[in-house]
Amino acid sequence: MELFRQRIEDLKAEINKHNKAYYEDDNPTISDFEYDELFRELKKLEEMYPQYATADSPTQKVGSKTSEKFKEIKHKYRLYSLDNSNNFGDLKHWYERIQKEYPSEKIEVVSELKIDGLACALSYQNGKLITGATRGDGIVGEIITDNIRQIKNIPQQLKDKINLEVRGEVYMPVSSFEKLNEKQRETDGKEFANPRNAAAGSLRQDNAEITGERDLRFFAYAAVFPDNNSPKTHFEILELLKKEGFTVNENAKLHQSIQGVEKYCNDWEFERHNLDYATDGVVVKINDVSKQNELGYTARAPKWATAFKFPPEEIETELLDVELSVGKTGALTPVAILTPVKLAGTIVKRASLHNFDEIQRLGINIGDKVIIKKAAEIIPKVIKKSDNSGDHGVFETPQNCPVCSTKLIKPEGEVVLYCPNSDTCPAQIKGKIEYWCSKEGMDIDGLGEAIVDDAVDKGIIRDIADIYTLTEADLMKLDLIKEKSAQNLLKSIEESKTRSLKRFITSLSIKLVGKETAELITNEFPTLEKIMSAKTEELTAIDGVGEKVAQSVVGFFEKEDNKKLIEKLLQNGVNPQNNDNQLISDKFKNLTFVITGTLSKPRADFEAQIKSLGGKISSSVSKKTSYVLCGENPGSKFDKASSLGVIILNEDEFKKLAEEE
Ligand code: NAD
Repeated sequence: MELFRQRIEDLKAEINKHNKAYYEDDNPTISDFEYDELFRELKKLEEMYPQYATADSPTQKVGSKTSEKFKEIKHKYRLYSLDNSNNFGDLKHWYERIQKEYPSEKIEVVSELKIDGLACALSYQNGKLITGATRGDGIVGEIITDNIRQIKNIPQQLKDKINLEVRGEVYMPVSSFEKLNEKQRETDGKEFANPRNAAAGSLRQDNAEITGERDLRFFAYAAVFPDNNSPKTHFEILELLKKEGFTVNENAKLHQSIQGVEKYCNDWEFERHNLDYATDGVVVKINDVSKQNELGYTARAPKWATAFKFPPEEIETELLDVELSVGKTGALTPVAILTPVKLAGTIVKRASLHNFDEIQRLGINIGDKVIIKKAAEIIPKVIKKSDNSGDHGVFETPQNCPVCSTKLIKPEGEVVLYCPNSDTCPAQIKGKIEYWCSKEGMDIDGLGEAIVDDAVDKGIIRDIADIYTLTEADLMKLDLIKEKSAQNLLKSIEESKTRSLKRFITSLSIKLVGKETAELITNEFPTLEKIMSAKTEELTAIDGVGEKVAQSVVGFFEKEDNKKLIEKLLQNGVNPQNNDNQLISDKFKNLTFVITGTLSKPRADFEAQIKSLGGKISSSVSKKTSYVLCGENPGSKFDKASSLGVIILNEDEFKKLAEEE
């Protein structure tokens, strides 16, 4: 019993972690298929052991909390998730349970494609679009009206002057997603894992103009009628939505019973790859609205609808090569290079092989036929050797670094192989510099992978500290740099000198230390000196920092070369600002700031500075707002501040205010 209680706790923690990555950071780390398996296991265990089921379980909740980036809205009518399954037995069982409640009635259902985007709630008054919001946790969402207004097929004005709450999915067409990623690659921006992520990342922007530049579309699939004038069936609601000016997916189908739904699902499992939008399943809804109301909802989902999720697609291809890539911490990752094949709507040329133990387990080698799977459209994986393959032996685990030839090591208890030559291995040098400059790191705009590679190859930069002595003449020696971009780059390098301590620690590429761990450490040790002299036992005393992480941090700062590097960074003017949460004065005590528009540094940096001076941040302007810090293209907050007479500061004025004695 204890075993199951523990498993339930572990599953809850793991699912919550994935929820945060997926909903808040738009950056999932496992496939939807794997997530759904965990979720179903938890649901099943909670049903078997109700004494361990708690109200805070992810099975009792919708989505996730809202981001601080947006103002919140309490939905007038709740939004829900959907129960789902991946077999027809469950689907039939769901229908039969409902049929039992209405033994003598015909139960019609509507099947629709489940669009893989993000749910939005649009509110219309007298036919006019008033607000657009994300689902959030179903009770409270994020106001994104300005962004919603950028989506061309969302009507600002309905055909009729009615009150209507519309529900639907914002998505990005697959072709636009591929173009966007191509552009991101060219400009060294972050690529999106799949069209859903691209849609979420593009819609949840604090600058609506960026949303406007992305090709987002909307499918309406439900409505709530505040004046109780709903049509009698779901199918008629879809018709009404079309008439009012919405795009409704044309593949919705009315069935007299559950018969026919299985064929619909089977057909679309294959047909979906010919569509220019991602769909991850079929939603089946009871057609009769009065029955929907009678059946009601669980804490998380309607009882009158359910989803059938398509299984992840698998396909056979040939393993042409195994590419060995050396990361910033020296970790060696094998990547499968494949004969290109179309899988789940996109062309796949590379797939993950995880590590060398995995290659041994799969027993594969170059020349083999392999089966790859793209579970829920994230990075495809090689899952097994195909039965059609001949015998090519097994790929040999390398002994030496493919870049600098140093003998590889495998730390005890780890599966990953490392190149220990962190000082001169070119791959690690480049990786560290690239990470230092990345958005997640010190956010130096314009110093992407191609430019860093060129600068290291030409000997212009040897380590991260060299970035801060670059001159315009140095930059002009690089292939991709023009005069204007050199000046902009020098400006962003200068600005990066005062990023937060948390970013600084994250950006050092200390093994096992990402941004979350850096935050835990900097919360406890608010200066660089304190972190550098922290002992293992002091670090492990922090909740969330384990022995291995602590040893890695201590080991990093004990190394002479790293000490010298930090000294060089400081000498070159890098001056990490006190930790985001640390109070350095109470100069802004009782003052509330609202930040709007595009500023020269990430908004988080200004927020950290305001908080460190005792001020508060609010996402909306009211009479209580003390100052509005206003960048370029400020939007409606600027107008509101002007109308309320709130003091508006530009960046220079803000700087003066923060720095004056
Ligand atoms: P969901 O995506 O499984 O289903 C509910 C949603 O379907 C609705 O909110 C709506 O947005 C959408 N939808 C699309 N077409 C629809 C239609 N025609 N009618 C009605 N609704 C339609 O549920 P969810 O709560 O948004 O997310 C849970 C799912 O998200 C999981 O099952 C998993 O696939 C994925 N997820 C993945 C991770 C991860 O780490 N990979 C983490 C969290 C969630």
